[in-house]
Amino acid sequence: MLQNSAIADVRTHISAIRPAGADVAILSMNCPEIAASARPGNFVNIKVNATDQPLLRRPFCIHNVHGDTIDVMVKNVGRGTSLLCEASCGESLLVLGPLGNSFGVGTGDFDTALLVSGGIGTAPMLFLEKTLAAAGIPFHHLVGGRSHADLLTVGLSNVTTSTDDGSEGFHGNVVQLLEKHLAEQTDAGRVKVFACGPNPMLRALARFCRDRAIPCELSLESVMGCGVGICYGCMVELSNADGEKESILLCREGPVIDGNRFTA
Ligand SMILES: Cc1cc2nc3c(=O)[nH]c(=O)nc-3n(C[C@H](O)[C@H](O)[C@H](O)COP(=O)(O)OP(=O)(O)OC[C@H]3O[C@@H](n4cnc5c(N)ncnc54)[C@H](O)[C@@H]3O)c2cc1C
Repeated sequence: MLQNSAIADVRTHISAIRPAGADVAILSMNCPEIAASARPGNFVNIKVNATDQPLLRRPFCIHNVHGDTIDVMVKNVGRGTSLLCEASCGESLLVLGPLGNSFGVGTGDFDTALLVSGGIGTAPMLFLEKTLAAAGIPFHHLVGGRSHADLLTVGLSNVTTSTDDGSEGFHGNVVQLLEKHLAEQTDAGRVKVFACGPNPMLRALARFCRDRAIPCELSLESVMGCGVGICYGCMVELSNADGEKESILLCREGPVIDGNRFTA
């Protein structure tokens, strides 16, 4: 879970925008400085327009990197994200990044990566998949959603899905799907879970992995302001190694954390 040290603030424009599901769009932006040093799990903080409304930037995981271009996958949940989802090619943006730490793919303590995501939490998983594939590490995605329309699997390989309402894939939540997958895939060797999704899902997943001694990294979300540790807006409470509560700034010490810190 390394911190990225090469941060750039890039004035760029949207070079492509395409729908990816219900209220979700993928935006491409030419950001050579960010693309060059981005690692899976990093995020960018985007000033979504040229006005002071909204004033603050909005954080998004780096969804993909291709050449000098980075993609973000954005779910329309409010003012800033609706401006991005409804933007047009050529619109100007300010993009700060790569920010935060990254998933620990090179730790050498696992044979197979299980990428577990829910809803828009699938956003960082394509970049992670590409990095694992380039390193020759086997991986499998377990993608959950409330229903068929919420599953975001665009571009992913080796995917199994679950839906809460049974409209596609396994009928149940993605933690139950993981349990089933582990019972069936007995030749995966040592597995490590990399996850992103809503907090209740991540909490359940962290407990599941702790109880089975499966290493697990989670990419958390919080409301965030500056993205670089100045505004103290993204404080989250985790457990430390002694099981005591401690607060961290998610933008600086996260967004990727050890799952054992999120079980309480
Ligand atoms: C490190 C990080 C990475 C993220 N990556 C992605 C991503 O790849 N794709 C994506 O679509 N979203 C991502 N998010 C969430 C995204 O930043 C928020 O959805 C966005 O900032 C909301 O802005 P808004 O102006 O549209 O919403 P607002 O109008 O500000 O708020 C709308 C609603 O969303 C809630 N909200 C605002 N920010 C957050 C947040 N960070 N988490 C949960 N709820 C929030 C508000 O409380 C409110 O209920 C990420 C957040 C973080 C911290």
